[in-house]
Amino acid sequence: MAFPTPPIAPVRNPEIKFTKLFINNEFVDSVSGKTFPTINPVNGEKIADVQEGDKADVDKAVAAAQKALEFGSPWQKMDASQRGRLLNKLANLIDRDCGYLASLECVDNGKPYAAAFFVDTQGSNTLRYYAGWADKITGQTIPVDGNYLCYTKHEPVGVCGSIIPWNFPIPMLLWKIAPALACGNSVIVKPAEQTPLTALYIASLVKEAGFPPGVVNIIPGYGPTAGAAISSHPDINKVAFTGSAEVGRIVMEAAAKSNLKRVTLELGGKSPSVIFADTNLDVAVEQAHQALFFNNGQVCAAGSRTYVQEPIYDEFVKRSAERAKHKKVGDPFEHSSELGPVVDEDQFHKVLSLIDSGIKEGAKLQCGGKRLGEKGYFIQPTVFSDVTEDMRIGKEEIFGPVQQIIKFKTLEEAIERANKTDYGLAAAIFTENINTMLAFTSRVKAGTIWVNDYNIVRDQAPFGGFKQSGFGRELGSYALHEYTEVKTVFVKTPAKM
Ligand code: ADP
Ligand code: MG
Repeated sequence: MAFPTPPIAPVRNPEIKFTKLFINNEFVDSVSGKTFPTINPVNGEKIADVQEGDKADVDKAVAAAQKALEFGSPWQKMDASQRGRLLNKLANLIDRDCGYLASLECVDNGKPYAAAFFVDTQGSNTLRYYAGWADKITGQTIPVDGNYLCYTKHEPVGVCGSIIPWNFPIPMLLWKIAPALACGNSVIVKPAEQTPLTALYIASLVKEAGFPPGVVNIIPGYGPTAGAAISSHPDINKVAFTGSAEVGRIVMEAAAKSNLKRVTLELGGKSPSVIFADTNLDVAVEQAHQALFFNNGQVCAAGSRTYVQEPIYDEFVKRSAERAKHKKVGDPFEHSSELGPVVDEDQFHKVLSLIDSGIKEGAKLQCGGKRLGEKGYFIQPTVFSDVTEDMRIGKEEIFGPVQQIIKFKTLEEAIERANKTDYGLAAAIFTENINTMLAFTSRVKAGTIWVNDYNIVRDQAPFGGFKQSGFGRELGSYALHEYTEVKTVFVKTPAKM
């Protein structure tokens, strides 16, 4: 995606203002006193030491979050419209500081400044969308049999835990806290250990916006410690998780074994992007390229299986490799950089080893395949053709700049192979034929299907997975159901009223 030059210049060495846990509206050290380093993937150097949360800190945050919900507390008695105003205020503060926040994401995550500016900090609009909902979350009055006034109320679930990934640190945080707060819950968020800094800065804005203490708590730390303390906590009422399917299973099991807290999971994908021969080739090549390379392939809905119909296959492969070869990878602060490094050393080695597996298993490496430079975690944009679904690169989520191109012949075959995956997050089809489009959109099992476009995600529309891509929906009015309990009230009446 070519972004325009952001209207606010980046800060190359942003001052790191917040590195402590945020509990009860205060920045505090961890109980253990431990810290962990957060690393700049451009050079592998430490940016800052961050306080490392663990079970004892999660316990403190839960106590604060429970207190925030008590009967008569400022948050419990606040008008719903006022909750909406606070969400809007937080959105405005994020916009005020978006140049700084985007710069912080460049150093912590490694994504280019313009992408951080135009995609990540635009997450403030998710707050605005849910601000509008805050005083419109209504139940029903139901004409039940007998003499009763029957109505439903949609009440907050309670203390909501959120465990989030590192690919879009700001939007992932806001997708979770915005609906949770609109519905009147309190939240405890564990940012990913790779990218804790923007969440902590936003914590300071939560306080500045005027949210009462304990409503939002942010506990940076590692998954098996801080994350597990959230998913297994007896007094957390709901956990929303975005990350790998492997960890999703662990979270769900911990929720089941502790207190049967509500669970929503947004896990990975191996999303097919299916290109029929009737489409404009230039447009399709660019779309399929962006479908995979956007955010360096570090997108759960990345178009990581590019199916191309036989008549255009060879030309498509050639043009896709040309496109990838000319992609500018480099310093996230240079506007010409389309991509930065991948997020960390683990991810770097994982992606390179999957590339090796692709070569060994017989896929054709069209370009890239190696690290770029000597420092940091840069990887060459890589294109494989002749991929099949039984290869690791044809079935596993890579989460890196590696495109898999697969040949197909017929619509039937495309539908069958698109569904040949344990995942079901997203799918796309490129065609001018309405019957092809209708057959595909009705028979492919995926939470989102794009027709002649890719990666369109909007605050107003639900997002989530079929099959092992998880369950529950984020965004749109659908997410409100995930953050409310329905209470049914029967009032005995003297007659039919
Ligand atoms: P990725 O592989 O993309 O980093 P993960 O699923 O490993 O995705 O991580 C997503 C989030 O889940 C991160 O915040 C991470 O710290 C957290 N996490 C990892 N392991 C666990 C666990 N055992 N319990 C709870 N959360 C975890
Ligand atoms: Mg991990």
